[in-house]
Formats: sequence, structure tokens, C-alpha cells
Amino acid sequence: MRKPLVAGNWKMNGSLESVRELLEGLKSGIDAVSNAEVAVCPPYVFVPEVQKLLDGSAISWGGQDLSVEVSGAYTGEIAASMLSDFGCKYVIVGHSERRSYHGESDELVAKKFAAARAGGLVPILCVGETLEEREQGITEDVCARQLDAVIDLVGVDGLACGVIAYEPVWAIGTGKTATPEQAQDVHAFIRGRIAEKSAEVAEGMRILYGGSMKPGNAKELIGKPDIDGGLIGGASLVAEDFLGICTAAN
Ligand code: PEP
Repeated sequence: MRKPLVAGNWKMNGSLESVRELLEGLKSGIDAVSNAEVAVCPPYVFVPEVQKLLDGSAISWGGQDLSVEVSGAYTGEIAASMLSDFGCKYVIVGHSERRSYHGESDELVAKKFAAARAGGLVPILCVGETLEEREQGITEDVCARQLDAVIDLVGVDGLACGVIAYEPVWAIGTGKTATPEQAQDVHAFIRGRIAEKSAEVAEGMRILYGGSMKPGNAKELIGKPDIDGGLIGGASLVAEDFLGICTAAN
């Protein structure tokens, strides 16, 4: 039985004050969520504050990205060990905003997955097609390519330490959600692709959906057999909305 995970990706949002307010709101409502795991991924600079406020609570935290390097002359980069030092459990790798705005290739994302794993973090690997790719009918090819790059580098057993997030790029931050059926089809495809290498890993793998998930559509999406939770952007910035999604996953 896979335990659902609801992870918030705060992206480049928030201030010290709003982070404190948001976390107080989450902590006061989280007790009702016992069957799902909950995590937040703040911008790096807020991680120490998040650690201070969430330590001992039921909510985990993580980074939004990391370096493939361990340490050294890499200005602006953050290593896995630094995230671990501040109690991070998770780290997002290969978010479509990193792939498109920062030119991250499948190979680089795979190296980031490996670096996270080597540093004791749980990577949340984002995969997903653009609108153009969906219209061309190559959604599965794109997801397979992004997934295979990681399996080729770390093996299917290496993949097992992570979590996958299927995030159709056209649904991220747009208010357009994939229908539960559209999402389920791709999730089933991804699980099937992993099963070609290991049925056991495929069965245990958590595959989250991301793309304009809200309290109003979360239950139907997470109710699908291959959808094991959500990676949430916009709605993770409002305590009531994020808790509503956590409750749906519960
Ligand atoms: C995301 O950025 O991972 C995401 C899913 O964003 P949103 O929920 O805002 O679509």
C-alpha cells in the first residue's frame, strides 16, 4: 500500500512573515491528516526558519533544486549535504520551470537525482509534456525519455528511493487541470514503464500529480488508482487550500 504524499512547491514566493503565518496555519490543521505524508519545499533562504517551525511536527520539508556537485567553486549552488544539514527530507529535481528557464537537460536532471540520493535526500522527479507535445501525441514518449534518463544512470533500484511527479507543463500554474482520466492514463503508463524493469519497484513507486491541483479537484484525481498524491504550486501558498488537498489525500 503506497502512502500518499502531498508536497507543496512554494517556488520563489513568500517573506519571512508570510512563511511564519503559513506554517502556523498548516500546523494547526495538520492533526486531522494522518494517512498522508505532507511536505513543503520553500525557497532555500527560508529552510532554516521552516526547520525551526516544523521540527517535531508531522510535516516534512525539502528543497526545490540542488547542485550535482558535492562542494567547491560553484557560485549560487546548494549541495545535497547542505539541505540535509537543515533537516530536509525531499528535494524536487527536474521541475519544468528548471528545465525550460534554466535549460536543464534530462541528463543533468538524472545527475541531480543521483546527487540527491547520494546525499540521503528523497528526490521528487518531475516529468511531463508541453501542450505542443501533447497535441503531437508524444506525451508518453516525453515522459519515457525523462524517466529513462534517470533509470539509465541510477538503475531501477536507484529510482525506487525517489518519488515521481507527473506534471503536464500546460497545467502548471494555468488553472487548466488534466482530467482525472488523462492523468491516470499517464500515471499508469509511467508505472508500466517502471514495471518493465521491476514489478516490485513499480508497485511501490509513488507517482504524484501536479498541475493546478486544488481542494475542489484533488479528491477525484488522487482517487485514481495510480495517483498517489500531489505536487502543489499555487494552492500550497494558502494554508486552507493546501490543507484541503491534504485532507483529500487522507
Ligand atoms: C508546480 O509548480 O509544481 C505546480 C504543480 O504548480 P501549480 O499547482 O500552481 O499548477
